[in-house]
Amino acid sequence: MTDATIAAQVRYETPAPHIARIVMARPEAHNAQGLQMTYELNAAFDRAAQDNDIKVVILAGDGRNFSAGHDLSGDGGKTWQDFPVVGTWAGFDAKGAEARYGREMEIYLEMCERWRALSKPTIAQVQGKCIAGGLMLAWVCDLIIASEDATFKDPVIDFGICGVEFFNHPWELGIRKAKEFLFTAEEITAQEAASCGMVNRVVPRDDLASVTLALAAKVASKPAFALKATKQALNHVQDVQGRRNAQMHAFSLHHLLHTHNELVYGMPMDPNGLPETVREKVLARVAKAKAEAAKAAE
Ligand code: ZN
Repeated sequence: MTDATIAAQVRYETPAPHIARIVMARPEAHNAQGLQMTYELNAAFDRAAQDNDIKVVILAGDGRNFSAGHDLSGDGGKTWQDFPVVGTWAGFDAKGAEARYGREMEIYLEMCERWRALSKPTIAQVQGKCIAGGLMLAWVCDLIIASEDATFKDPVIDFGICGVEFFNHPWELGIRKAKEFLFTAEEITAQEAASCGMVNRVVPRDDLASVTLALAAKVASKPAFALKATKQALNHVQDVQGRRNAQMHAFSLHHLLHTHNELVYGMPMDPNGLPETVREKVLARVAKAKAEAAKAAE
């Protein structure tokens, strides 16, 4: 089976019996995630969940890098009202902190919760760079297969933020390594990630897709309902350990810092720590938004 359905930024494939492969198909932007990518991913996960023939789902990315994280260049003129919002916050264009809180609650935190809670086992297939928001996409999957060239990094402390929105670092790396990872903003290799338990297997880049598919096929050979129950039992272990409560606390601090940066720098991040190319994009977007707000107020 090689059926593939292509949306604007995500491709849905069925590469083998009972297996769906969701592919982020925006390699020119290193699969950066804006609203379009988010809602296409959500639709693809829903499709896999609702197809009784599918038992295992792979999440992959086209190109050199798995994901550069959230798209800081904006949404190409589209707003939340162009997409099928699934949560109950909405109002991404409200005044003050309400807009950002609602937006990030929906498209980052709750989407990640939703995808993590997909009833069927999921496998992230990670190559190249997996940065910030890209970590969240890998982490919501049940298994992670990384190629030898894969690296992982959450640099948001450099921008005056305390870790990405889906704050799963301690559950992935252990508390002490998570502290080093976040305090230093240094990248870790696939091998280091595997030694912490964050990655299941590290394989040569050329073998990444085939090893992931073979693992998916092995999992798909098991009884569907038992797979779902096993996944739910394991996810619940983290939840009774307090994962969700800890993440909500981190999410509140994350938004305190967005608001703090807004007060100090006039934008949700400290621009001094942004890489130059990203800083230009963010400053341009902020200037445009301010000009539009000023025009609207005239
Ligand atoms: Zn944020």
